[in-house]
Amino acid sequence: MAEKKDENKMEKIVSLCKRRGFVFQGSDIYGGLAGTWDLGPLGVALNNNIKREWWKMFVEGREDMYGLDAAILMNEKVWEASGHTGAGFSDPITECTKCNHRFRADHLENTEVCPDCKGELGEVRNFNLMFETKVGADGSQKSYLRPETAQGIFVNFKNVVDSMSPKMPFGIAQIGKAFRNEIAPREFLFRVREFEQMEIEYFVREEEWKAQFEVWRENILAWFAHIGLKEENLKELEVEESDLAHYSKRTIDFEYNFPGKGFDELAGFAYRTDHDLKNHMEASGTSLEYIDADGSRFIPHVLEPSFGVGRAFIAILSEAYTEDEMGGETRTYLKLPTYLAPNRVAVSPLLKNKPELVEKAREVFTMLKKQFGNVAWDDNGNVGKRYRRQDEIGTPHCVTIDFETLGEEKPELKDTVTVRDRDTGEQQRVAISDLVSVLMQS
Ligand code: ATP
Repeated sequence: MAEKKDENKMEKIVSLCKRRGFVFQGSDIYGGLAGTWDLGPLGVALNNNIKREWWKMFVEGREDMYGLDAAILMNEKVWEASGHTGAGFSDPITECTKCNHRFRADHLENTEVCPDCKGELGEVRNFNLMFETKVGADGSQKSYLRPETAQGIFVNFKNVVDSMSPKMPFGIAQIGKAFRNEIAPREFLFRVREFEQMEIEYFVREEEWKAQFEVWRENILAWFAHIGLKEENLKELEVEESDLAHYSKRTIDFEYNFPGKGFDELAGFAYRTDHDLKNHMEASGTSLEYIDADGSRFIPHVLEPSFGVGRAFIAILSEAYTEDEMGGETRTYLKLPTYLAPNRVAVSPLLKNKPELVEKAREVFTMLKKQFGNVAWDDNGNVGKRYRRQDEIGTPHCVTIDFETLGEEKPELKDTVTVRDRDTGEQQRVAISDLVSVLMQS
């Protein structure tokens, strides 16, 4: 089966996402809201699988990591201490004097001429990306929708240390929504105004940061391999010293070769020194020192791997999206790892108007659903069409209950079903009693 190369891959993925219930435009029936997207039934399944696998790898799979789920709304002092209210979290903006379109000045080759209408661009000014809101009935207390999950971790550092007594080095991980009033949201889920982050703050002694940096670099690459990203589509960009944030001594951007876009940031990894804890300690007046077994006190230094769920979502779909020839026809399928696929398996009766087939298929469906949860029932159209439909959404296996299952023609095949493999199209006959263990092996 020859795989085909595709120039319009991104358009096809976006179209598949809408057609098959992965991603819809936010507020669609009202004409949308720029920079927002809604996840449909299959999208939320994929998204949850990404987050679950990440949590399993980085929290449950380790002894030195602690989970957290902090509030999105935080005391405004958090954002003053972190530097987000100042110029540090602003993007340079410029507006066309003719068509009034706004652009990020640092994304333009020429900051004088409008790329849309060739009009004259105005002054470049700083635009803060945080969404402001008011808390309480009198609206007197200002707050923000958090622009990153990381600060929730720093302000809970003491709570986690006091309640869990972690030994150094250790990390705190959080998955949650973040909001940025991006000047020019674009490219599907790539740059949006509401998104999810999966972030880790890993606390180390200052002298061990270099060694731990290398360890975490490998951990990050292991995650990308786990979600099916090919090495050739990944690039590490060492951020140059002159471009580093003032508190960072070393930062690597992990870039992915996004279809129709090329290499761009998929995740960031920064050594943030003791900057954050130190600032919060000064601003809050609360000690954020770690007290070692020997009584020595110090402010830990921090390594921060930071992942965007949406960008991983596109990268995963891009790796998985495949077209090939099967049975003389072009077919599209998502070659997703089993643990990421929205449906683990689909179950069908060969014919939906034969009650004995439907009854048996329902039995198998119920059994598999109890085991796996994400099992689809599909009895529309003929079997070939069902296979194509499940291929397109990445279902690894389809199970079909036919007359042989009922033992009508060949008694030796009674209580066996057809299991069809998504990638090869091959079918095997499996006893219903072996079905769970056969599927578990995939
Ligand atoms: P960029 O340079 O692309 O604006 P950033 O360097 O500001 O990104 P970070 O602050 O390092 O991004 O955030 C960590 C991760 O969060 C990014 O690697 C990305 O995956 C994700 N992310 C950040 N901003 C957005 C956004 N507007 N839409 C979708 N994902 C985002």
